[in-house]
Amino acid sequence: MNIRKKILTRCGALLTAVLVLAPTALAAEAEIPYIPQTVPAAQLAPADQRGQEDWQLLLVNPWHTVPEGYEIKLATLSNGLQVDERIYDDLDDMLSDCREAGLNPIVCSAYRTEATQTRLYRNKVARVRASGVPEDRVEAEAARWVAKPGTSEHQTGLALDIVAAGYQILDEEQEDTAEQKWLMENSWKYGFILRYPSEKSDITGIGYEPWHYRYVGKAAAADIYRTGVCLEEYLSQEGPEAELAPAQTIRQAATASGSMETAPQGAAAI
Ligand SMILES: [Zn+2]
Repeated sequence: MNIRKKILTRCGALLTAVLVLAPTALAAEAEIPYIPQTVPAAQLAPADQRGQEDWQLLLVNPWHTVPEGYEIKLATLSNGLQVDERIYDDLDDMLSDCREAGLNPIVCSAYRTEATQTRLYRNKVARVRASGVPEDRVEAEAARWVAKPGTSEHQTGLALDIVAAGYQILDEEQEDTAEQKWLMENSWKYGFILRYPSEKSDITGIGYEPWHYRYVGKAAAADIYRTGVCLEEYLSQEGPEAELAPAQTIRQAATASGSMETAPQGAAAI
């Protein structure tokens, strides 16, 4: 049975759940010491170096954490959610054009603070533990569904979850909505990519998410859309060690960060 189907997350309820579960999160806080991992500059993979030179290509995934002290200026959307102000105009253009096409896209998650991501993750850890999963597998299982703090693109302000107003459930059926079809076909024109394609999970470390879009700038988005690669592959191909197969480069990056064993496999981290 597909466990994903059992853990449907209604996007709009996410924040509510965080607030409701706050006492649980606080209780879990004492039990689960979380130490953010940072990768020394000397160990950065080529893909990571390029991401550090260009904010639009910043690589954040299970093996690459948000840079320590990363600061952004936020712009606030009409529904109160926030994004990096540098992507606001392109996002606004994309959503406006989508609506002009007769559709109704809703941004249900955007920028998250480290504290918010930590609460989401710890809540998940607590629920997984309560479900009876053996203790040595609790964190890995939780990370399959909620990205560990520091490894979520939402902390960069460059990623957002967009759903159809008529179907706000975060599952694979989201891809069948007219809104997702429009976004998948057109988002690159505005500098956004569907970040976690179905066939790239082994490279991104994240399962198929037909709702999570990432801003990479119009030039990169056009290349990525045209060639059908994911961001990790794109950065590796463009990097100084382009002769390496993308997956090989990513594995090396994982080894460098020493966190491969904790990376979620086939995950659906939000
Ligand atoms: Zn997301």
